[in-house]
Formats: sequence, C-alpha cells, structure tokens
Amino acid sequence: MRPILATVSLNALRHNLAAVRKFAPHSKTMAVVKANGYGHGLINVAHGLSAADGFAVLGINEAIDLRDAGFQQTILLLEGVFCAQELNLASNLGLNVVIHSQQQLEMLESAILVKPMHVHLKMNSGMNRLGFQPEAFIHAQERLRACKNVADITLMTHFATADDEAGIDKPLKLFRTITQGLNLPVSLANSATILRHPDAHADWVRPGIMLYGASPVGDAAATAYGLMPVMQFTSEIIGVQEVNVGETVGYGNRFTATQPTRVGIVACGYADGYPRHAGLVSSYQGGAPIAVAGKLTTTLGRVSMDMLFCDLTNIPEAEIGSSVELWGNQVPVDAVAAASDTVGYELLCAVAPRVPMKVI
Ligand code: PLP
Repeated sequence: MRPILATVSLNALRHNLAAVRKFAPHSKTMAVVKANGYGHGLINVAHGLSAADGFAVLGINEAIDLRDAGFQQTILLLEGVFCAQELNLASNLGLNVVIHSQQQLEMLESAILVKPMHVHLKMNSGMNRLGFQPEAFIHAQERLRACKNVADITLMTHFATADDEAGIDKPLKLFRTITQGLNLPVSLANSATILRHPDAHADWVRPGIMLYGASPVGDAAATAYGLMPVMQFTSEIIGVQEVNVGETVGYGNRFTATQPTRVGIVACGYADGYPRHAGLVSSYQGGAPIAVAGKLTTTLGRVSMDMLFCDLTNIPEAEIGSSVELWGNQVPVDAVAAASDTVGYELLCAVAPRVPMKVI
C-alpha cells in the first residue's frame, strides 16, 4: 500500500461549525457540503456537521445519498432541478430547491406534486451566474406566493466579491432595496461574508470553506479566525537522492542545485490531487511548503504524476519512511494553494479518489 492518506477529523468539523455559530449567533446554519463535502467525503462531513440546521448540495444524487444515510435535516439543492421528474423526486424527499430561472419557475407552477415545497428564490446581485435579475425578482416572488406547489419562500443571493476589497456594499444594498417590505426569510452569507460582513448574516448563513478549516480570503489565515484544518493530507518519503551542484531534479529540469542538496522523494503526485505546478508559478518565489519528520521545508522542481520532490538538506534525520505532511495542521492548505496560484477550495476538492481516506 502506498503511504498516502487523507485523514478527516470530525472533531475539527464540529469545532468549525461552532466557530460559524460564534460569528453568526442569530442565524441558522446551512452547511455547504457539495463537491463531495469539498473533497472530504459527503457522508463523512455530514456526520461531523450533523448539528447543522441544514445541508446545501448541488444535485439530487447528493441529497439522496444524505437521506439514504439517515440525515433528516433540511437539504437545499443549490442549482435547483432541471426536469419535472427531478422536481417530483425532490418533493418526495422533502428537499428545498433553489429557483433561479424562469424555466424552473414555470416547471414548479405546472408540476403536480404530492406536497408543496420549500423554495429559495435566488436573485442575481452582480455575479451574473445564477438568479433572476433584480427587476424580474419581485415578479417571480409574486408568482411563487401564488403557486400551490410552494410551502414557503426564502430569498437568497450569492455575492461575487465578499472575499475581496470590492466587498458587498453595492450588491447588499441592491438586494435590500429590491426585497424591502417582502417580509420573508433571507439567506446571503458564504464564509467570507460570515467572517467579514456581519451586517449580512440574515436568517440563514451558508458556510462552506470555513467549515473545512481553510480561509475564504487571501489576506488572512484560517487560524486567525480560530478555524481548525479538517483534512491532514499525509504521505512518506520513499526515496532519497544526493544531488551535486549543477545537477537537476525532475521532469523539465525545473530545479537546479546551487549547493549539494539532499532530495526527498514523496509518494504523492498530481494524480493524487497535488497541484503539478506547486511552487513553480510566477506569483510565488520558492517551492511549496511541505513538512517532513515534523520540520518545514519546500518542494523542489516539478511535481510528477505519482511523486514529488522536497528539500531534505536541513533535515538530516529524514530518511525513507519519514512522515510527510502535504497539508494539514503544520502546512495550511492555503499556503500550498498560494504557491500554486490557486485557492484552498480547489486543492481540497481535487484530492483524488485513489487517495485512501480515514475518518477520525
Ligand atoms: N452559497 C453558494 C450559493 C455557493 O455556491 C457556495 C460555494 O460555492 C457557498 C454558499 C459556500 O461558499 P464558501 O465555501 O465560500 O463559504
């Protein structure tokens, strides 16, 4: 067996859910567990987050998996449904659906359902992804109020810039102006909004990345918000090479030794989900952070499919079998993401199915 492993901590999930509640004490929590629980395993994370008021998933298959595993909470389908059959199934399973388009609205109006549904009506507040334009939003809301298939309505939007300096002032003002006087529950906040914009917490919050212990913002570490990494992505050294000055390492000779260098070979590559270009992007100097035998060092050269290289020159005790942390407590996933010109979200979601997962 290769020594690579992703260990998922239920305790860290519980801790991070409690952190969400501390930041947004007056809101109900809809834990976003789509994309296989951001790469941690849907059912694993549902167990860790079972105290959440609801789960948000993308598609009906994920909702079925949650119901099959016995989770009776509110489940929201973030993209809604795309055919009448799916709508019927969603109604039978007692799911909440997002209605974000005219086509979905009409489908709901013409459906023959066993029981009326809980609906989240989505406004496009500037992301220009899913949602009714502000002008059409009120009309859609009126039609939903009049629809026999609707049990209740929650108003929602998703901000495009909650995580950067553009902020949410403009879209929040727009949302408030449009929805003024409607007197319906509201759901607005992803992780960045929860952490940075308490004025937008509203009735429901929809945290994703912060539940997994990574940061939604580039300029603050997850630990600064008291979050705990949920995934420890670990492996071992499976080879050691002594490299002389002028020699190169790996495909494409992307690392040349300028001093005698002790190179560790780690059982983890891009086929495991580790970014191929880690440490080689123009926005970042030096290799990506990695820990060997409990000591921080950096990757060297280009990541290959099944292996990557790291610098053991200053870790003389490291040898074949030494422990490696790719990301986790010692090496924040966000730091590896920064060295790869991406975000922690992408790295967590990309952990490959061939990596064994252990839940603790
Ligand atoms: N709400 C919606 C509609 C989303 O699409 C997402 C994630 O993409 C979230 C909430 C959670 O976002 P985050 O992981 O940034 O907290």
